[in-house]
Amino acid sequence: MENTIAQKLDALLKLQEIDSSLDEIRKTRGDLPEEVRDLEDEIAGIETRLAKFKGEIGNLNSEIDSFKNAQKDGEKLIKKYKEQQMNVRNNREYDAITKEIELQELDMQLAEKKINEARARIRLIEEDLNRAETSLKDRNDDLKAKKDELDLITSESEADEKDLLTSREKHIKKIEERLLKSYQRIRGNSINGLAVVNVSRGACGGCFSIVPPQRQADIRERKKLIVCEHCGRILADVESVEPVTGRR
Ligand SMILES: [Zn+2]
Repeated sequence: MENTIAQKLDALLKLQEIDSSLDEIRKTRGDLPEEVRDLEDEIAGIETRLAKFKGEIGNLNSEIDSFKNAQKDGEKLIKKYKEQQMNVRNNREYDAITKEIELQELDMQLAEKKINEARARIRLIEEDLNRAETSLKDRNDDLKAKKDELDLITSESEADEKDLLTSREKHIKKIEERLLKSYQRIRGNSINGLAVVNVSRGACGGCFSIVPPQRQADIRERKKLIVCEHCGRILADVESVEPVTGRR
């Protein structure tokens, strides 16, 4: 069953009313939802950095362990060489072993140098890590405060919002897809979120431009969809002029 233009306009007006109420509710939350999202993103970023720092420290510690093991092996070898040196048969053998010991000692010094470098690197990373942990704690405190504030504001309007969303769901089913899309588009472009307005006191209820009398008459008939020539909002009806008081 095809709806008449008048029914479509009434449906749009009702939808506009629901959406405007939802806008009001959302306005009370201000920038809090966005601030909460930003903080959550920032915290996720810090946590990623912390994990990276901890991974780097872990790698450096394994590096240190393997250098220490190499040093232990080196010590054993040197001990073994020194024992061998006591049983050499000639100078040539003695010199060869001395050479081996010297090489082993050089390796161990190199390992020591690498261990110290790794330890210095760990200390630097730990400074970054501590700074990140401090800022993580601060951000988490901020987040908790903002969330509590938002929860409080939200809880006050939660039931109303739920009702409005439910009736919106029911309501949009009555409006054809194409019309709903136009409505959403006009609403999206409008600062005050109004897509459907009445003509009030001879002017568009959205942009307050004068609507000529003939056009007002067409709108009043409600036989076709008419939009404001200036702002493009859908003009649903013409509000009757209130009787002027204080005059006879
Ligand atoms: Zn207008």
